[in-house]
Amino acid sequence: IQLLYRTQMSRAEHLATLGELAAGLAHEIRNPLAGIAGVIDIIGRDLPETSPGRQVLQEVQDEVLHIKNILSDLLEYARPKLPEFHEADLNATAERAVALARQQVTSRPIEIALIKDSNLQSVEHDPAQIQQVLLNLLLNGIQALDGKGQVRVELRSEIGFAQVKVKDTGRGIAPEALPNLFRPFFTTKGQGTGLGLSLARRIVESHGGRIEVSSTPGQGTAFVVWIPLRKASASARSSV
Ligand code: ADP
Repeated sequence: IQLLYRTQMSRAEHLATLGELAAGLAHEIRNPLAGIAGVIDIIGRDLPETSPGRQVLQEVQDEVLHIKNILSDLLEYARPKLPEFHEADLNATAERAVALARQQVTSRPIEIALIKDSNLQSVEHDPAQIQQVLLNLLLNGIQALDGKGQVRVELRSEIGFAQVKVKDTGRGIAPEALPNLFRPFFTTKGQGTGLGLSLARRIVESHGGRIEVSSTPGQGTAFVVWIPLRKASASARSSV
């Protein structure tokens, strides 16, 4: 048992060191990247409107943004933040996430629906973190649609808990992928980091809640997030 304990300790330490390394690297890459983005911007301004170089620069800018997103996911993963709880309207938090998601799908045949619940006007949560979780689920849902369909965000009050369901009519998830979904770095996308769902789960759990998924290949996927209405009920629950 002693030995097992020691092995587990060193694995935990190993992971912590990796986390530090990742965070340090991400931090170091950010500054030169900001420099590159700045230079690209200046070059772009000097190019004539009709120059084909503009298109190329736009692509470089998109790639820079992509790297930035990977770095911030990685930093966040390596250095998790504790939630800052506020009594706030969960409908409003969901609405902000939906608004951001809608910005990404203008002019495509994709509908994003929001169904609120007026009983959820004061839920103790970190609005920025929960918004991030919902936006993540929404963007995953949108990406699963392959250009056409619906993502629906539905809030519902249960006893002691708020429930937020994010349901899409997309391609669904293969049963063998389901157990890996929340693992860090698991991705089936070329441009994915595979950190979105593991970050989402960590945030929801730090709220004393949980997140579950169900999916039918070819028909769609539903993620359900439960958040305790009160922080106290979270600790009461976990101490049972
Ligand atoms: P990423 O989006 O960077 O791949 P995530 O952790 O957010 O990382 O998701 C992990 C994987 O889970 C995705 O690559 C995808 O295969 C699958 N996935 C997540 N959400 C959905 C969804 N709504 N429909 C289908 N597959 C999904």
